[in-house]
Amino acid sequence: HIPVITIDGPTASGKGTVAHKVADKLGFHFLDSGSLYRLTALTALRRGADLRDEHGIAKLAEHLPVSFAGGEILLANENVSQAIRAEEVGNLASQIAAMPTVRQALYALQLGFRKAPGLVADGRDMGTVIFPNAQLKVFLTASVEARAQRRYKQLIDKGFSANMEDLLSDLQARDDRDTHRAIAPLVPAEGAHFLDTSHMTADQAIEQVLKWYAQ
Ligand code: C5P
Repeated sequence: HIPVITIDGPTASGKGTVAHKVADKLGFHFLDSGSLYRLTALTALRRGADLRDEHGIAKLAEHLPVSFAGGEILLANENVSQAIRAEEVGNLASQIAAMPTVRQALYALQLGFRKAPGLVADGRDMGTVIFPNAQLKVFLTASVEARAQRRYKQLIDKGFSANMEDLLSDLQARDDRDTHRAIAPLVPAEGAHFLDTSHMTADQAIEQVLKWYAQ
């Protein structure tokens, strides 16, 4: 039986960093499920896809030529690790993530990440929909201000420009969409442990998750 740890939470809550490091510490595989929605969004943007064409976008999701190599994300051999982090891509990702056929198209791909010796998966519906039988489920949150600050720093570090006011309203719009959509809304999974990281360092959050897992 291959263990899974799910870490769900709102955008920029720090779940990516925490999930990645927990996976490293345990020697587990890592799934950044948001990257799949971002990759679909990036492909749609590049193809000039029509957002009303849900079926066409689901087709793009189903045939993503994606591979993960040494922490980098490749789309048909192009390294897009950086490109998928743009705000424009994140915003579009959250719009297409509300499409049931897109979620369906990415379902099997996500299940495939569950490989020995184990998996840490982060996203919005890891504990509720994709891995409902996970050994440990974490719901990671942080105040909207703390998250906007983290996202700001992340964007600047990656060489993007950023504006705090726009980020705050983007975050709120995205939270709203992710929590209120009809399919796989962002809600804590049954049995999830809550972790508010507003006043925590990444290391403290990682330690807490590892402690829960060891229990
Ligand atoms: O986590 P990240 O910000 O990279 O995700 C981008 C978007 O993809 C989110 O705003 C959310 O709408 C969507 N997403 C999702 N389900 C997941 C992961 C991400 O709907 N499991």
